Amino acid sequence: MERKIGLLGGGQLGQMLCEAANPLGAKIWVLDAAGSPAKQINARTSHVDGSFTDPEKIRELARQVDILTVEIEHVDTYVLEEIAERGVEVTASDGSKRMKTVEVQPSWKTIRTIQDKYLQKDHLTQAGVETAISKAIEGTSLEAVGRELGYPFMLKSRKDAYDGRGNYPVKSPADISDALEALAGKSLYAEKWANFRLELAVMVVKTDNDTSDCGKSTIAYSVVETVHEDSVCKLVYAPPRDVSVLVQQQAQDLARKAVGSFPGKGVFGVELFLLPDGELIVNEIAPRPHNSGHWTIEGCPTMSQFKSQLLAILGLMPSFPNSTIPAMFPATVMLNILGGKTQESHNKLMDMAIAIPTGALHMYGKESKPGRKIGHITVVGSSLSEAEALMAPLITVADDIRA
Ligand code: ATP
Ligand code: MG
Ligand code: MG
Repeated sequence: MERKIGLLGGGQLGQMLCEAANPLGAKIWVLDAAGSPAKQINARTSHVDGSFTDPEKIRELARQVDILTVEIEHVDTYVLEEIAERGVEVTASDGSKRMKTVEVQPSWKTIRTIQDKYLQKDHLTQAGVETAISKAIEGTSLEAVGRELGYPFMLKSRKDAYDGRGNYPVKSPADISDALEALAGKSLYAEKWANFRLELAVMVVKTDNDTSDCGKSTIAYSVVETVHEDSVCKLVYAPPRDVSVLVQQQAQDLARKAVGSFPGKGVFGVELFLLPDGELIVNEIAPRPHNSGHWTIEGCPTMSQFKSQLLAILGLMPSFPNSTIPAMFPATVMLNILGGKTQESHNKLMDMAIAIPTGALHMYGKESKPGRKIGHITVVGSSLSEAEALMAPLITVADDIRA
């Protein structure tokens, strides 16, 4: 655990990564704004204040550490390429300069491909992984795209998207001008509407740089069901409600195949659509810990997604029978806490979470804003129906906050 880790991004994912690092004795240096959630719980004077898109700040972070990783994919990958391929210049106490080697995990190539959703889908298609049908829109009109894909279709920003900000459902030709206005200034592509039965997600750990054999290079967590509202993840059910064991196995296999095609190590979140005919397609992949994996903190207490990220990038991930990390409780349900109208809107929800003996409240130390993810609640149960029953009154209160 001697190797120092530099983390690009200090939001809640970075915060939970630091929480997992402390008991391991792993040391993380964070690059993000002063006071960001990860810095709040990780006392260190040499964190870097600034942006994870600023090349000089990324070099400043790199000088202090042995390995760089990310909690967000919207970073400058050109400076990561430079650092991974050539190292970073450091000055010794006698003033002499030398290049220091710094590893970047997952690979900058992977982050660069994934951060552009259109390139990501193209990569997955070439790797033989089914995805939502995507179409470049340069040199064509959206009317023509609509005729080809049918309505509704989804207009998406290629980059910098999160929580559905960057998506516009185009329901009819009459929506086209509003869609273009809403996403003005962004590079866009179109996606065929996926009439999914439900959404699933699989966290996958990549333990090897190699891309030739996903059977050897990847480990999958149990499949979960994710429920989105207005394109924002609201609930996660582990295991999914009403999905056969066969489909769950197929989802794990597809997620492993998808992640196995990307160079580098680390944890990846794979979002899937389960279509009415039982077919599974990939919606998108995140090259980092993911909201759909928060349940693992309580559901897989000895191997959360955050611990996996650390062990994978450090080359310390243990092997698991059948290359799967099983849920360690029969059922886990996670509910995101989104900010309401006032700073106090979510207080009742916090009290209710604390009152559940098998519940866990995670507040991120973020200022509450309407619709912003500011925390989450997990409950574990001896059955899915028990965990659902424990969570049900909290969902009602969360819905009231949003209203
Ligand atoms: P995040 O990274 O936070 O998951 P995002 O901004 O990258 O969100 P997407 O994952 O692309 O957004 O989409 C958000 C949600 O919108 C999906 O989980 C799904 O519910 C819906 N959605 C996205 N693409 C499609 C599609 N092609 N057809 C139908 N629904 C879609
Ligand atoms: Mg996304
Ligand atoms: Mg998504």
